[in-house]
Amino acid sequence: MKTKIIKICSEKDFDLLCEPARCLAEGGLVVFPTETVYGLGANALMEESVKAIFEAKGRPSDNPLIVHIAKKEQAKAVVSEIPAAAGLVMEHFWPGPITLVMPRKDTVPDAVTAGLDTVAVRLPSHPIARKLLELSGVPVAAPSANTSGKPSPTRAEHVIEDLMGKVDYIIDGGAASVGLESTVLDTTVTPAQILRPGGIGKDVLDAVLGEVTYDRGLTDTGVAPKSPGMKYKHYAPKAQMVIVEGEWREARIEELIEDAKAEGKRVGVLTSGDAEYKADILLDGGRTAKEYAANLFDLLRRFDALGAELIIAELPFGDNGIEPAIKNRIYKAAGGNVIKC
Ligand code: AMP
Ligand code: MG
Repeated sequence: MKTKIIKICSEKDFDLLCEPARCLAEGGLVVFPTETVYGLGANALMEESVKAIFEAKGRPSDNPLIVHIAKKEQAKAVVSEIPAAAGLVMEHFWPGPITLVMPRKDTVPDAVTAGLDTVAVRLPSHPIARKLLELSGVPVAAPSANTSGKPSPTRAEHVIEDLMGKVDYIIDGGAASVGLESTVLDTTVTPAQILRPGGIGKDVLDAVLGEVTYDRGLTDTGVAPKSPGMKYKHYAPKAQMVIVEGEWREARIEELIEDAKAEGKRVGVLTSGDAEYKADILLDGGRTAKEYAANLFDLLRRFDALGAELIIAELPFGDNGIEPAIKNRIYKAAGGNVIKC
């Protein structure tokens, strides 16, 4: 398949979105930027097109997709009922990086929901995503636009690396501002439950909904996560990876670097602060959690491109705002290989 790349620099270029929007409506595959990560979209009401997403990504078919919409009223095309908690989240946080799991309509193909009786829906805030969705006139099923298992794409270059020749269009809208996937909130249970931490943190949800809970499958080993996607190894660079957390991390990281070098390994460190480690590759995630989240997936891909064999990630964050989402993604990228010191 020939993939056409379209670069959008400002609203003046929005006319260029008409062609990919038509392609989406007619059943094609279109990659588009959102504020979280790039999405690989297909018309959510066309089963064959939705199946083509799984094919292009190599995604397991039991992992359901998020349906993206242009305005709140469009949720009615895929949802049979809007639970009270979902209504409140829509009012306070849409458009934005939070996905709502709600009861589905029968018209939604099973390929979208992996046969579940719920459907996940999001209204993104990115202006290009919103314009494309509006022009297409259809709900758009879209997972992250990466090969399954690899770090999610936050820039068009990442998508090109993974999906060139496998999709009809790639729309290049620059770097994603949040950089991690949306929060997934199950609103079919009371209290509502976070199935995946993301751009909207538990603290702000608590303030609007009363206490929300985390799915136990996120934290307890031996409990299956309710969100099918959370059980897979994810976001992983090719290099082996280890996370070092805690007050004494600098000394431990120096030791790990020395050990790796003694074994002849090319070692990279993902930093967040002032420490000048003697690693072969030193990349700075940024000082704040917001910066670190926006840079994380790009830096994981960069370590691979620079030939790192071991990545040591310094992780100085707690449990506020986007911090649990950073931990969730980076723990998964490292296959749970975490040192606390
Ligand atoms: P992705 O868009 O690839 O970042 O993944 C979407 C996430 O939403 C995955 O973790 C899915 O398992 C999850 N998801 C989508 N639909 C549902 C649903 N109906 N119930 C629970 N989780 C869902
Ligand atoms: Mg994904």
